[in-house]
Amino acid sequence: MAASEAVPFSKTGGLADVAGALAKSLDQLGHDVTLFLPDYFLLRQNKGSLPAIHDTGLRFSIQMNGRAVPGAVNWTTLPNTNVRVLLVRQPEYFDRRHLYQEDGHGYADNCARFCFFSRAVLEICRQMILRPDVIHSNDWQTGVVNGLLQTQYNGRPGFERTGSVMTLHNMAFQGRFWHFDMPLTGMDWRHFNQNQMEAWGDLNLLKTGIAFADQITTVSPTYATEICTSDEGYGLEGLLSHRRDDLVGILNGIDDDVWNPETDHHIPAPYSIDTVGEGKRQCKAHLQTRMHLDQRADVPILGMVSRMADQKGFDLITGAAERILSQDLQMLFLGTGDAYYEGQLRDLARRYPGKVAVEIGFDDSLAHQIEAGSDIFLMPSRFEPCGLNQMYSLRYGTVPIVRRVGGLADSVENFASESESLQTATGFVFGDYSKELLAETIEKAIWLYHQPHIWRQIVRNGMSRDWSWTRSAHEYVAVYRRAMERRTRRSP
Ligand code: ADP
Repeated sequence: MAASEAVPFSKTGGLADVAGALAKSLDQLGHDVTLFLPDYFLLRQNKGSLPAIHDTGLRFSIQMNGRAVPGAVNWTTLPNTNVRVLLVRQPEYFDRRHLYQEDGHGYADNCARFCFFSRAVLEICRQMILRPDVIHSNDWQTGVVNGLLQTQYNGRPGFERTGSVMTLHNMAFQGRFWHFDMPLTGMDWRHFNQNQMEAWGDLNLLKTGIAFADQITTVSPTYATEICTSDEGYGLEGLLSHRRDDLVGILNGIDDDVWNPETDHHIPAPYSIDTVGEGKRQCKAHLQTRMHLDQRADVPILGMVSRMADQKGFDLITGAAERILSQDLQMLFLGTGDAYYEGQLRDLARRYPGKVAVEIGFDDSLAHQIEAGSDIFLMPSRFEPCGLNQMYSLRYGTVPIVRRVGGLADSVENFASESESLQTATGFVFGDYSKELLAETIEKAIWLYHQPHIWRQIVRNGMSRDWSWTRSAHEYVAVYRRAMERRTRRSP
C-alpha cells in the first residue's frame, strides 16, 4: 500500500484513517502488508508517541528532470500488527511544517515531491525484492505508481504478476500541474494524451492513477455512482464511466482501537450502549467546561469536527445560523481551513457567548471529546465520498444530521416517523442543498431530542451498527484478486 498519510504517523483527513486501518485489517486477515509513507519531518516531532524508526541502510537515487535526487528508506511497524512500514526519506521534499500546503497554498513543488515518492515506492520494491501481488495506491499523490507499473516496470523481475488498485478518496483533489512537470513523473511524453495523463491541458496525476490501474475503488457505493456524472466527476467522469466495470465503492470502516467509547482514553467517562446515558452526561459537562459553554445538562449540543471547506456545507450553517440559534441549543465547531469560514464561525461565537464555541485548529483529543460529549453531529456536506465522522458519531451515540450524498447516504438511516422507522433509524437525512432544509431538519431533531423514548432508541440503533474494518477488508481482498486476474490477462 502506498499513501501520502496514515494514522498514527501522519494525518490531515480521512485518507490517513483508511490507510492505517485497512493495512491493519488486512494483516489481521493473514495478508502480508507493506505500507509506504513519506518520512515527514513531523514524524520526528512526534517521536515519543510513535514506534521506533530505524534505518534500513538502503539508498537510492531518482532522476528528477535531469537531476539525481537521493533517497533513503527508514522502517518501522504499524503498532500492534505485522505491517512493515517503509518511510521514504528525502529531507528536501519532506522536512516541512505541513504535509501538502502552508497558509492555504499548496507547496510549489508538490508534483516533484509526490512523483519522487511514487517512483521511490517502485524502486524500493525492486531493490528489496518485495515482489508484490498488488500495489494499492491512494489519491493523486500515488497515481504515478500505476503508470510506471504498466510501463517502465512492466514485466521487470519482481513485477511480473503485480496488479494495481487505485482508491479515490476525493475527486476534488486531482494533483493538476502544468505540462512541463511531465518529466518529473518518469513517464514518456507519449502518455501525455487525453486518455492517460492529460486533462484540460494539464498533467493530472489522479487521472494517471485511474487510467493505468487494473482496478479502481472509491470509498462508498453511492460515491462510485456519483463520480461517473459531471456533478461529482470533476472532469474525469468520462474516464470513470469508461472504466465503470472496474470501479467499485467500498464503504470505509472505523478503527475500533481508536474510535470506541468504551476504551477511549481521550474522554473523561468511557461508556457502552448500556451506560451511554450517564457516560454522555459526564462527557457533555466536561466538554461544556472545556469549551466555555453554559453548564446545562438539558440543552442539546450540536457538534461538528471538520476541515473548514466549501465541501462540508459551512455556507448552509452560517446561512441558517440565526434561525438555528433562535432555538434552545448549543453549537460547537472544531476545524481549520478556509479563512472565510473560520472568521464567520468566530464571529458567531463572539455574538453568542456560552451558546456557540469554536476552536480553530487540529486537535485529535478534542475531536474525540466532541464525538462523545455532543448530542447531535452535523455533516450537511455538499458532497462526501465516504465521511468518517458520521460513523464515529453513530458509534458514540451522537445522532448525525447529514445530507443524502455519497457515504452519508450509505451509512445513516433517516428517521421518518415513529411508526415507520423507530427500530431502524440512526439519524436525520435531508436531500436538497438548502439552508432552509438544514434548519428544518435540525428543528425536527431538537423536537425529538426532547422525546426521550424515541431519542434513546435512535441512539441505540446507531450504536449497535457494525462498522468494523473486517467487512470492508474482505471486499478489498476481492478487488485485489480481480486486479491480479486482470494483470495476468493484460499483455506484458
Ligand atoms: P475528510 O477526509 O474529507 O476531511 P472525513 O470525515 O472522511 O473527512 O475524515 C476526517 C477525519 O479527520 C476524521 O477522523 C476527523 O475526526 C478528523 N478531523 C478533521 N478535522 C479535524 C480537526 N480540526 N481536529 C481533529 N480531527 C479532525
